[in-house]
Amino acid sequence: MKTLDDLLRQERFSDADIIRLLGLTDPEDCERLRRAAYDLTTRLVGDLVHYRGIIEFSNRCTLNCRYCGIRRDNRALERYDLSLEQLVEGAVWAAENNYGSVCLQAGERRDESFVAFVEDCIREIRARTRSERLPEGASITLSLGEQPLETYARWRAAAGEADCMRYLLRMETTNPEIFARLHPDGFAHEKAYASRIQALRDLRTAGFQVGTGGMIGLPGQTLADLCADIRFYQRMDVDMLGMGPYILSRGGDMLDEGMLEQGPLLQLALNMLAVCRLVLRDVNIAAATALQALAEDGREQGIAHGCNIIMPNITPRPVRKRYQLYDNKPCIDEEPTDCRACLEGRIHRMGRRVGWNQWGCSSHFRRRMNLPVVVLSAIDIADERSGSSLMDIPVQHGSTRMESVSIRNRASLTKS
Ligand code: SF4
Repeated sequence: MKTLDDLLRQERFSDADIIRLLGLTDPEDCERLRRAAYDLTTRLVGDLVHYRGIIEFSNRCTLNCRYCGIRRDNRALERYDLSLEQLVEGAVWAAENNYGSVCLQAGERRDESFVAFVEDCIREIRARTRSERLPEGASITLSLGEQPLETYARWRAAAGEADCMRYLLRMETTNPEIFARLHPDGFAHEKAYASRIQALRDLRTAGFQVGTGGMIGLPGQTLADLCADIRFYQRMDVDMLGMGPYILSRGGDMLDEGMLEQGPLLQLALNMLAVCRLVLRDVNIAAATALQALAEDGREQGIAHGCNIIMPNITPRPVRKRYQLYDNKPCIDEEPTDCRACLEGRIHRMGRRVGWNQWGCSSHFRRRMNLPVVVLSAIDIADERSGSSLMDIPVQHGSTRMESVSIRNRASLTKS
């Protein structure tokens, strides 16, 4: 068998290699994997971490995904919608605070008033976020679920010519059986496996930079399933990934199925991020807020394992508590200004810096479009910081030992 160091030096990985890397539990092996992913990130993508100020503008949803705290049948939840002015003000605040990019997220709706509302918001944000520092205005990521191609085309057109539009549509899992368990039938357009794949294709057709991703540690999921997810991301040639650990939601309908214990789940999620970096190489990868629900420094650990995107929550504080897809979501009591300072500190502590006033398009997208790719190296930043070395910053693995705990559905996380 290859040594781990030999394996990590490869540029191409077999399924067996990927499954072996995903299943690492020994702290020294995990650290080797982390280091390889971090080094590849700084070499291919650069040292900047880009912000996407996320505005969760409505928790109304017409779907009923069983894992989700804002699903249609959660009658206990008080629903809200931000007005156009509130939403656009949030985006303008982000631009004035040097964020080059915002993300608009809401539950899934396809009615004309919703589609037109989003269209108007995109136009307003693109017009009102222009400044000397951001002459082309903020770029926008939409995370609004499956829509017909015509809707994607309308939203893309509302932004104008510039390559500033991205769309995140998570596949959740590529295992069709697990997918079917997460998404019950019974409503006109409940999520379906095939239509989700078609939607990802439609997004590319409509001219978006396309992102997808999945949940890590789902009940019944195996390492082979996670490997299949990575192969899917490769086949779809995605520009960005948004993945997070699966965390139970009291507003969902899966309490009886349990979840992995915190430490092993965090390690598995970090392994997945690192392996995605090694296999997909130059895509943007977000350090999901859900990582911080598992460990106070979860997002820093995500950055240390190959992520280069962070999504500070700039949703107005009074409604933030009502947008919880999973339990124990962090940062629901802070003001946007608190998040800005807190996250910048976290990124600096990792020896990285924020890509202020930049769109932060993925290098993968830029290469795909034959656009120039500028990669700021560790040396540029070490110079700026009087020679401090990025590689000397320790990452804590103390709470992530898989062998020290038992897991309710651990048995399913086998290597087959
Ligand atoms: S995951 Fe998205 S589509 Fe599914 S219920 Fe939650 S908000 Fe709606």
